[in-house]
Amino acid sequence: QPTIVWFRDDLRLADHPALREATAADGPVIALFVLDEESPGIRPLGGAARWWLHHSLASLADDLRAHRVPLVLRRGAASDVVPALADEVDAAGVVWNRRYGRPEREVDTAVKRMLREAGRRAESFAASLLFEPWTIRTGQDEPFSVYTPFWKACRRAPEPRAPFPAPRGLSGPRAHPDSEELDEWELLPTAPDWAGGLRSAWTPGEASARRRLRAFLADDVDDYAEARDRLDADGTSRLSPRLRWGELSPFQIWHAASEARRDRPSAAHGVDVFLSELGWREFAWHVLFHAPDLATENWRRRFDAFPWPDLDADALDAWQHGRTGIPVVDAGMHELWQTGVMHNRVRMVVASFLTKNLLIHWRHGEEWFWDTLVDADAAANPFNWQWVAGSGADAAPYFRVFNPELQATKFDPDGAYVSRWAPEAGAFGYPEPIVDLKETRAAALAAFERVKRSG
Ligand code: FAD
Repeated sequence: QPTIVWFRDDLRLADHPALREATAADGPVIALFVLDEESPGIRPLGGAARWWLHHSLASLADDLRAHRVPLVLRRGAASDVVPALADEVDAAGVVWNRRYGRPEREVDTAVKRMLREAGRRAESFAASLLFEPWTIRTGQDEPFSVYTPFWKACRRAPEPRAPFPAPRGLSGPRAHPDSEELDEWELLPTAPDWAGGLRSAWTPGEASARRRLRAFLADDVDDYAEARDRLDADGTSRLSPRLRWGELSPFQIWHAASEARRDRPSAAHGVDVFLSELGWREFAWHVLFHAPDLATENWRRRFDAFPWPDLDADALDAWQHGRTGIPVVDAGMHELWQTGVMHNRVRMVVASFLTKNLLIHWRHGEEWFWDTLVDADAAANPFNWQWVAGSGADAAPYFRVFNPELQATKFDPDGAYVSRWAPEAGAFGYPEPIVDLKETRAAALAAFERVKRSG
């Protein structure tokens, strides 16, 4: 009897506890991916995410094929599709790695119950977070709402387990179940094909993810602490889409980075700062676990009193398309459109500009990022938007309004980032700033007084 491995946000063979478990069981392995656009509450993927998913699935299918394991693609509500495939192949069981969003957990619980009722094995494993969200709690037995003590508690917890190698002895069934065609899912854009920039920036898939991790730890991590804030340096790991899609696990990254620290004293500081950034990813997921509506509701409820003006659709459009007349903002929005990512500091600058200078609700920015980021992450994206807007967990104080011009002077002193992504800035025909930075900052602070008074 075969065991089905249900792949979701974990498109890799190495350090995949569910796949390892299935390989250890008697019988062949069948891999399954479900495109679930039907289960209630599951957030539809954005355009850039769909592009990544297509290529990452193609790469996973190739890697599995080398072991004669079929990747079965099915579309529909997972609570229909998964038990149906299990019946079809009379599976011994279905195994998967855990997800932490509320709608996903509800689906997984329902599937588990149905499989067990049918007498099949159903089991889930920890794979995409270093620490299970219910294990890291304050002395008062509550979830943390501040990052620094959260990360200290994580560092005091038992060290994350070592990663598992890709399983040996993996094999597929003689007869392969029917699979839908990846191309028929139409995850890629057709007309217009806006993905040219993504194709030149990225090669999705586990092999290239591992190469990138190795190169980053060999060449860049020593200088990470200083270089990570520079817009004009490629000083960061660029691993975020790899983590989003699980082409790498955080356990692999944790242990590879710790090894670099052991091997090279010069890497120690960079590795610690880098791991603390992984800590922000953990924190965002733990916060989402305890506040599942993070993408739609203010985490600090008193921000509900914030007097957002009516949406200025023209201003939102200018921001989305990088026509605000503020060079570093426009550069960031172009980088995002062309490559599917944006430098972290510029993400903070454009988010502050949208929510504070344009007084546009953070949800509009979050949705645009959700559609255009290849690393669009159900926890990190809303968490960081709320962090910048001031409504989030451990958020930047509201009165911290990033000044885009000062940020550019400090972190892009020669203007290399701006000339790369907004070469039109300063040239004839470049728009005047759509708002006055000083005046809008004052207006934002006045609006915030309402939140303060309501608290
Ligand atoms: P590195 O500096 O190399 O960091 C290593 C890893 O740590 C990253 O790959 C990422 O997984 C994690 N990380 C770093 N910073 C953060 C952070 N602030 N929050 C959570 N995890 C972090 N990151 C996403 O992965 N997906 C998102 O949808 C996302 N949306 C964001 C929206 C806004 C408004 C802001 C300000 C930040 C957002 N981030 C998001 C966080 C951060 O900008 C990216 O993780 C980072 O730029 C990715 O580049 P890197 O892999 O080179 O990062």
